[in-house]
Amino acid sequence: MTRTKPKLDERREKQVREAEELLFAGPQKLGVAKGLFLGRFVADWVMPYPKVPVEQEKAVAGALVELRAFLDEHLEPAAIDRQADIPREVIDGLARLGVLGMTAPKEVGGRGFSQMAYCRVMEEIGSRCASTSVFVNAHHSIGIRALLLFGSSEQKRRWLPPLARGEQLAAFALTEPQAGSDAANVQTQARLNADGSHYILNGEKRYITNTAIAQVLTVMARTPIPGKSETAITAFLVTPDMPGFVLLEPRMEKMGLRGTATARLAFRDMAVPKENILGPLGKGLKVALTVLDFGRTTFGACTTGAAKTCLRLAVQYANTRKQFDRTLGEFELIKKKIARIAAYTYAMEALTTVTASLIDRGLEDYMLETAMLKVFTTEALWEIINDAFQIYGGSAYFTDLPLERMLRDARINQIAEGANEVLKSFIALVGIRGPGQQLQELQDSLRHPWGEWRKMWLLGLDRVDAAVRPPPVPVTNPRVAPHAQRLSRLVRKFNIEVNRALFRHREEILDCQLVQERLAHAAMELFASASVISRWDAEISSARAPHTNGSSQNVADLFLRGSARRIEQAFAELHDNDDSAVVATADRVLAEGGKG
Ligand SMILES: Cc1cc2nc3c(=O)[nH]c(=O)nc-3n(C[C@H](O)[C@H](O)[C@H](O)COP(=O)(O)OP(=O)(O)OC[C@H]3O[C@@H](n4cnc5c(N)ncnc54)[C@H](O)[C@@H]3O)c2cc1C
Repeated sequence: MTRTKPKLDERREKQVREAEELLFAGPQKLGVAKGLFLGRFVADWVMPYPKVPVEQEKAVAGALVELRAFLDEHLEPAAIDRQADIPREVIDGLARLGVLGMTAPKEVGGRGFSQMAYCRVMEEIGSRCASTSVFVNAHHSIGIRALLLFGSSEQKRRWLPPLARGEQLAAFALTEPQAGSDAANVQTQARLNADGSHYILNGEKRYITNTAIAQVLTVMARTPIPGKSETAITAFLVTPDMPGFVLLEPRMEKMGLRGTATARLAFRDMAVPKENILGPLGKGLKVALTVLDFGRTTFGACTTGAAKTCLRLAVQYANTRKQFDRTLGEFELIKKKIARIAAYTYAMEALTTVTASLIDRGLEDYMLETAMLKVFTTEALWEIINDAFQIYGGSAYFTDLPLERMLRDARINQIAEGANEVLKSFIALVGIRGPGQQLQELQDSLRHPWGEWRKMWLLGLDRVDAAVRPPPVPVTNPRVAPHAQRLSRLVRKFNIEVNRALFRHREEILDCQLVQERLAHAAMELFASASVISRWDAEISSARAPHTNGSSQNVADLFLRGSARRIEQAFAELHDNDDSAVVATADRVLAEGGKG
């Protein structure tokens, strides 16, 4: 299909409208990720390495002890996978332990844990059974999140207590046949009835986790914008007992996460009281995307848990399985995999901790960081499982070992809650917005140098400063200092590459996904490296650090070396690549309809 100019403009206008609705939320503090794109290192968000507050540490440690004991006794991941069901006793047990309301305030029956503490709990569940962690996530990370964040006090009082106690379960229903990655394309309609008391919902949702077991769903539907012919998305609280709620397929058969109940459902003239609107009318897209930001944080925690399991399994096998009279761990190509798994696992944990702490410490806008965390950790886990699988050889292929299940379960991570391709574009485009605006303002000022000399001077200084002065990356230990200095130089270079890309591609950069991907990769690696440096520095400084003399020194050092190399490679490929050939080949193949 050829892209005509008016169509392209129309699409861009739509993108800009949607982005403005989501991004222009007023003045905000500069976060880590946006800072990186501007050539700044906002150290306060990353350093010192965040810790669960002392007053919560004891409760979290206690919760983890209880949780581990419960999971040891009652959780059977293989049986959950085989029977495609999470037993009620597991759900009830998690509810009793407070896991299903972990971050909900105590007043509504929750445990009032921070996001960091919740991540530690989710890491434990994710290390054992992805079906169970996704069930908890669907209920708690996204199912009740809109209520927690956007519910009125009356709505919270009425709906939250049974949900936070796990007596009722929740689901989050955004995806539809025509609204997958393009979340703004929700087609479900909600029209006000004649007396204005109810909205009448019609439409279909698919792939919705927990629907068949949930008593409350947050549903996205289109409502008319008063005084206009257009519609906008609004979030509604829906219960399955509402007449017109139809469960078309309660448990869609699937490859992985088989224990979760993933449904197809429809609303047929379903009347929903207008008091059930969550958040402002017409602001459902913002509600949905904010909810997903939280979900992405726990994605990081669950994938870290799974990575730790892979590390344990891989090491066990590499130390015991013998071939050619040597244990597998004696072969360099196996060592390479073990070292890589360990290095990425360390980085995943550090990145999850830093990202979760941003939410706890009140950064208003963390959508870039949560998107980076989701992409980085899901891609890393996929490689980690593949490495562990390879170490186990043929035995990994059989169902008596957990790796084939882990492989099936992990594949969806790169697709769900924002496909990684979409998130990479998002990271790059939101990231370059700051430097793009600065360059635009500088260019505008240059047209009127006498009228706007002061602004021009300040903008110019800021740009020049970012380009010539690497931002300080403060660390306390000499062992870490060379890595911090290198990170600082890379942040400066990143800003230069961002500006070059903006100059070269100008507005067309909105469509240059291959360029966007490289910028996103570089940004993610910078964020991951910063988190690793922070963690390593803290571990060396802490007298209590269990790993100070162990492998974590090597692991952190290895990750940072590799990460710097990957960043340099992304920069190099911005200038030396096969992009035109890639696009031309794909266009040709697509046009020929895939004939060999
Ligand atoms: C097991 C499971 C559980 C789920 N649970 C829920 C849930 O609880 N609630 C809910 O609302 N949804 C849920 N989903 C839906 C999930 O979030 C969507 O599958 C996801 O958003 C992708 O949408 P899609 O499957 O329609 O893929 P599509 O949007 O059709 O995309 C297909 C592929 O195209 C590519 N792509 C798409 N857009 C772009 C682009 N702009 N640039 C480059 N590449 C692109 C990506 O590679 C993507 O993987 C679940 C899905 C699964 C499989």
